[in-house]
Amino acid sequence: MTASTPIDVPELPDTELSQVKPIRGRFEKEGVFNVLRNFYSEEQIKGMQEKGVDSRMVFGINSYYMALVKGEGLSDANGNILLPAMPPSPALQHLVVPIVAEAIDKSGEKDPSNQIRYSPDELKGKLLHKYDEIVLGYTALACSAHCRYCYRLDLFNGSTGKGLVKPEELRDYVLGYNRDLAARGGVDENGEKRWPVSEILLSGGDPMVLSNKQLYKYLAASAEAGVDVVRIGTKEMAFRPMRFDGALAETLRIFHARYPNTHINIVMHFTHPDEFLERDEKNQYKQENGHYVWLASVKQAMAHLGSLAFVSFDNQTPVILHVNDDAQALHLLHRELRRGGVSFKYIFQCREIEGHKAFAVPVEEAWRLHNQAQKGLSDGARSRFALSTEWGKLEVVSVTDGTGDLSMNGLPEEAAAPMQSVFGEGLIIMKMHRSPFAAHTQGDIVIARRNPKALWITDYEDRIIYDGRKQGAAKYEALIQTLKAMESGTEQEAKAA
Ligand code: SF4
Repeated sequence: MTASTPIDVPELPDTELSQVKPIRGRFEKEGVFNVLRNFYSEEQIKGMQEKGVDSRMVFGINSYYMALVKGEGLSDANGNILLPAMPPSPALQHLVVPIVAEAIDKSGEKDPSNQIRYSPDELKGKLLHKYDEIVLGYTALACSAHCRYCYRLDLFNGSTGKGLVKPEELRDYVLGYNRDLAARGGVDENGEKRWPVSEILLSGGDPMVLSNKQLYKYLAASAEAGVDVVRIGTKEMAFRPMRFDGALAETLRIFHARYPNTHINIVMHFTHPDEFLERDEKNQYKQENGHYVWLASVKQAMAHLGSLAFVSFDNQTPVILHVNDDAQALHLLHRELRRGGVSFKYIFQCREIEGHKAFAVPVEEAWRLHNQAQKGLSDGARSRFALSTEWGKLEVVSVTDGTGDLSMNGLPEEAAAPMQSVFGEGLIIMKMHRSPFAAHTQGDIVIARRNPKALWITDYEDRIIYDGRKQGAAKYEALIQTLKAMESGTEQEAKAA
């Protein structure tokens, strides 16, 4: 194989999904309008249109997820039950059904976390190379349903120039990067140690909306790039689990026979237990022999892939208002996924997309929910709570209580005042869990005075007292400014007196 050699694709079986086809588009599209009529009057839909809800984000759903939201049950053409009838799920409705609040305050970033900064010039907008060891490729422009809080809004809307990478482009980029790095002895132009790409992330949209043939091409391209792991980021196990059928399992077996050294890691996006647990008519999760009952559709999908020793499963999801801002639901999500053989990687803060105020839970509240949800979970079932920022993944490790009135503890005023200025409101402490490129800042921390209303790191920028994102003395710059401001405030007070 040489660079630019087309990917060779063998005969592959097709996956049949005609029963659960997505309905996508702007509100005026007939199918979309009809679906929305399940939730809103005609006037309400038109009102949302006028306010710009659908121009903010295209609506998308498929019959399976719609049945899950509405609790109506679903059968195939032969009368086989795909989903049992259950009570409606308000949480899942909030996940996919538009709300007017999305357009009331559209503040936020077109390109959240400035991702385009990490897209190499030669494939601008087609792939991201932020962390040395992993390259993310955009492989699909849609999902089979659309989360309203989606952080790939700009990809769907085409508003920031992002688009699809071809499998061969992805492979050739990684081969070229690793070859050049090896030729330089594993260091960059500045002589600094760098790491080769060992993993490729197929992202989108959702790569699992691709045909088996298209998916195979990306998998093969990743294997031919020589990486250890190809990761597939997908919500299809929740949106449309029948995508993971015997034909897909056979496709992956064929892939593995040709490329036995490449592991496949499927990173799922279960957001709420309603997406995979069966509920009774009283809306209680069903139990049998002391264990929760998984939906047969999801169980079967997991079984198709679970028989493949070269495939592993992870999960990650954001905390979203009215969807999973509930410690009990988050706890159950972790616990049951652990039982299902799925490792929980991250709970994320909702990204600062345009319209995020309709979806984001304040950072400190999200941390509290996550912390509460982790109680009673074994270490293997736990996750990290993080903000995926321009500077890397910032894990929130703690949020402290304020000091109260320190002078009450007998501290002299001159000692109590600066203490209170720094610690009075309490602190949020974040760790640079992953940092870009040479990972300079990895392991360092960011400490800020608390802001209970903060929705993103930007809401802490004027409260930071130690900034591990910076180098050397600059880390303490903000603290010095705070103390200087206090000093001059004290001087002015003295002068005024
Ligand atoms: S699954 Fe991911 S990419 Fe697809 S709509 Fe949801 S958040 Fe966006």
